[in-house]
Amino acid sequence: MATTSPGGAKAFSRGFLPLPVIPAPPPEEALHLGSIEDAYRKEFDATVVAIPPGAVGLDRTLFYAEGGGQESDRGTLVGPGGADFRVVRVERRGGRTLHYLAQRGSAHLQPGDPVHGILDWGRRHTHMRLHTGQHLLSALLFQQFGIRTLRARMAGIEGVLELESPLRAPDVLSRLEQEANERYFSRPVPVRVAFVSPEEFARRPGRSNAGRLPRGLTQIRLILIEGVDECPCGGTHVRKTGEVGPVRLLDPVDPAPGGSRQLKFRLRSGPSTDQ
Ligand SMILES: [Zn+2]
Repeated sequence: MATTSPGGAKAFSRGFLPLPVIPAPPPEEALHLGSIEDAYRKEFDATVVAIPPGAVGLDRTLFYAEGGGQESDRGTLVGPGGADFRVVRVERRGGRTLHYLAQRGSAHLQPGDPVHGILDWGRRHTHMRLHTGQHLLSALLFQQFGIRTLRARMAGIEGVLELESPLRAPDVLSRLEQEANERYFSRPVPVRVAFVSPEEFARRPGRSNAGRLPRGLTQIRLILIEGVDECPCGGTHVRKTGEVGPVRLLDPVDPAPGGSRQLKFRLRSGPSTDQ
């Protein structure tokens, strides 16, 4: 499907670094980023094209490389003869997505070898729930208080939003949590992926800061939450907001005098089971 091919390549990724972070197009085909349904693919076939120390580069992949506040996928590569190699982390290095293997596994593979990849789906799906949850909370913060999210990071079953300005009202968290849970995280509001030109994006930047977009982009990958948010992003997301499940907003541990510049949330239903 045309949209799956290097859709992710030109994706606009938000992240832990000052936004926006736009990676150079990776040489491999990103099978998981073209549409919202592509994020639900769990297995794939590929060919080994590079063996840097401890890692494997493939001509195509479903593995998400750490970035945009979202942790990397884990899983397994099954090589020739059925040998299993555990993928312990995935990173973008030198413009390529590298799959780091446990126990010197890459020494047993060589360019041209066919591999079958299998994601650790429970981990990936939890990341998808967290990432969509983060976008939704960022959207509500912007709509209701005009506060932009500068960065976000997600790990385990928690996410942290770093905010442009402090949240001041003491009862904000409970109201925000109630609205998010009742209107979105318990209802099937559709989420989808769209690609738009920089010119079109500049006309409707939403909560994103269009003025920070680098020049030279040919397309921008957006995550759309129907009726509430659209945001440039290179991450993987769930297809309906209800899949996030209820969240709990956590009290700031060390709030600044003028209010907290961080918002922390936790998935109440814990790690994902297979869907
Ligand atoms: Zn995102």
